[in-house]
Amino acid sequence: MKKWLAYLFMLVLMVTSVPMAASAASTDKSAVKGRVIVIDPGHSEKGNKGKESVSPGSKTMKIKDPGGAVGVRSKTPEYKINMAIALKLKKRLESQGITVVMTKTKDSENPGNQERAEIGNSHHADLVIRIHADSATNQEVHGSTMLVPAPVGYAKPIAATSRKYGEIIQKALVGTAGMKNRGIVERKDLTGFNWSKVPVVLAEVGFLSNPQEDLKLNQASYQEKIAEGLEKGIVQILQ
Ligand SMILES: [Zn+2]
Repeated sequence: MKKWLAYLFMLVLMVTSVPMAASAASTDKSAVKGRVIVIDPGHSEKGNKGKESVSPGSKTMKIKDPGGAVGVRSKTPEYKINMAIALKLKKRLESQGITVVMTKTKDSENPGNQERAEIGNSHHADLVIRIHADSATNQEVHGSTMLVPAPVGYAKPIAATSRKYGEIIQKALVGTAGMKNRGIVERKDLTGFNWSKVPVVLAEVGFLSNPQEDLKLNQASYQEKIAEGLEKGIVQILQ
């Protein structure tokens, strides 16, 4: 082989091997294989007027599922968006070798939030990710908010880890889907957080009350981007 040809060959090898090594490191399947993620698609077709304690031992009762938001333009109910994104995320995580447990797979299923939390507890989930879409009276409001348990009461032991996970997933989500980052919000009033013994976050993936975001949330390609962002964040927290 001529000397210049040998140099050229080496150069090609160097250029192609560097990015390959980098991508292999960012998706280390052995680190995530068999880890358990519970996906909880928010709400249901009919809602659930039953009541449940907001936290263990509490006398404060909350309605199990008051129903979710509705698209201001599309009129699509929130549960449909939540389920579409949840199923896309499930497929992506499973392709990484991650074990996925769904709190529900049908629109007609309407478990309460305590029941949903118990699924995470009984499977000793590494994380429960709750998927919701937001709504506000001001139609201008848009973007994603990541809700995490406040460090009080029963949720105290899971609060710090949940917050850390929430921050990582939120960053990946807004970066991948290109949406406004409305930040992390701590909540002490959510039944699904208060009954959880494992790390839990709730991704509000956009506002159905914002006409533009409503239309985007109805697009399969945008739902896929959201799922991709959530997947990236989840893989990162498991590594
Ligand atoms: Zn919701």
